[in-house]
Amino acid sequence: MTTKHYDYLLVGQGLAGSLLGYSLLKRGCSVKIVDNYEQPSSSRVAAGIYNPVTGRKLVKTWLADTIFPFLKTYYTELESELGKNFFHPMPMFRPFPNQEVKDYLLQETAMTNYGDFGQYHTPNDSLKSVVKSELGGVMTDHSGWVDLPLMLDTFKEYFEKKQCLLQHLFDYQGLHLESNTYQVNNEWTLSFNKLIFCEGFYGRNNPYFSWLPFNPVKGEVLRVKFKEDISLKEMINQGVFVIPLSDGRARVGATYSWHELDWVPTSKGKLDLLEKYHKLMLADIDIEEHLAGVRPATKDRRPLVGIHPKYTNLGIFNGLGSKGVSLAPYFAEQLVDFLVNKKELDPEVNINRFGSLYLGQKQS
Ligand SMILES: Cc1cc2nc3c(=O)[nH]c(=O)nc-3n(C[C@H](O)[C@H](O)[C@H](O)COP(=O)(O)OP(=O)(O)OC[C@H]3O[C@@H](n4cnc5c(N)ncnc54)[C@H](O)[C@@H]3O)c2cc1C
Repeated sequence: MTTKHYDYLLVGQGLAGSLLGYSLLKRGCSVKIVDNYEQPSSSRVAAGIYNPVTGRKLVKTWLADTIFPFLKTYYTELESELGKNFFHPMPMFRPFPNQEVKDYLLQETAMTNYGDFGQYHTPNDSLKSVVKSELGGVMTDHSGWVDLPLMLDTFKEYFEKKQCLLQHLFDYQGLHLESNTYQVNNEWTLSFNKLIFCEGFYGRNNPYFSWLPFNPVKGEVLRVKFKEDISLKEMINQGVFVIPLSDGRARVGATYSWHELDWVPTSKGKLDLLEKYHKLMLADIDIEEHLAGVRPATKDRRPLVGIHPKYTNLGIFNGLGSKGVSLAPYFAEQLVDFLVNKKELDPEVNINRFGSLYLGQKQS
């Protein structure tokens, strides 16, 4: 039996595991990441949007002033380090759906609360020829999208080159916490200082962390091709989002469903997206691809980060919900600061906020 030791063993090479693994390597830690790439991953379905102003009332998202400047620097540096172009800063235009909403947003203090994130916008003729926007709207800055499949493929190559990757389905039966080891097979064992689970949706079946309040949400997205030649330089969002891609294509999404948590695209999801698309956009489209995935969301809409209350060699980085692209860089760095430099975790993400759930589960 051969044993190899690592400072950190990570399970999952989605967005969470990739950024955490990368940050740990940057701090000089030894890392092994286990993923078998055979089960679906939320990151490979996601549209990858980051956007600091959301919701019907267009409010600034949680920690926007901190995480949005951070992510811009982070992804820009990451691109130059990995040598691929997956970061696409792009303004987002949100047409007012009706006069009532327009009046509300113009009169209420909401508009002034945006700071430098967005402003009232009257579309020019080019935008008006593509988007139904008679009432004007809000143009958001500091938004854009990340091509997550490309970024994850690039990370995969990067980790492979550094011999940090193990293609393998992690099996909890192989875990021996008394010796800090994981038995891969009859010939090979990994030993570690800490094991951090970055399993996305599958985390809710993890026997060590299933007490955490996961609240997964299914979502569906389309990749479409415009039937006519149009020029669109902004993302559009009202009921659905439309992200212009290259070659006259666009990504359209997304649906939200708390039922039937599977990865199967449905005709209901497709019709819902098409109906909302045609309410918003003038250009006709052909559907090229239809995908479904499950967002690893939580009941309090905050990430799940930290160390197990009893097994202090086990940790978790999960619960990124529908905002993984904006949250993951900041909290991957924060988790590494916590692990390596013993800095505090933000109490709003630290899983010890759910300590009573763990105790309750043990008693029942
Ligand atoms: C339709 C849709 C649209 C979305 N749009 C956006 C968006 O526009 N912007 C945004 O920020 N977010 C969006 N999201 C959310 C985003 O996808 C997530 O926040 C993020 O990708 C979660 O990353 P993760 O690494 O936690 O999980 P995942 O990407 O699911 O990764 C988990 C990984 O763990 C691996 N794994 C799990 N268990 C095991 C095991 N036992 N052994 C080995 N490997 C294992 C899996 O193979 C997988 O690779 C969207 C999600 C969906 C479904």
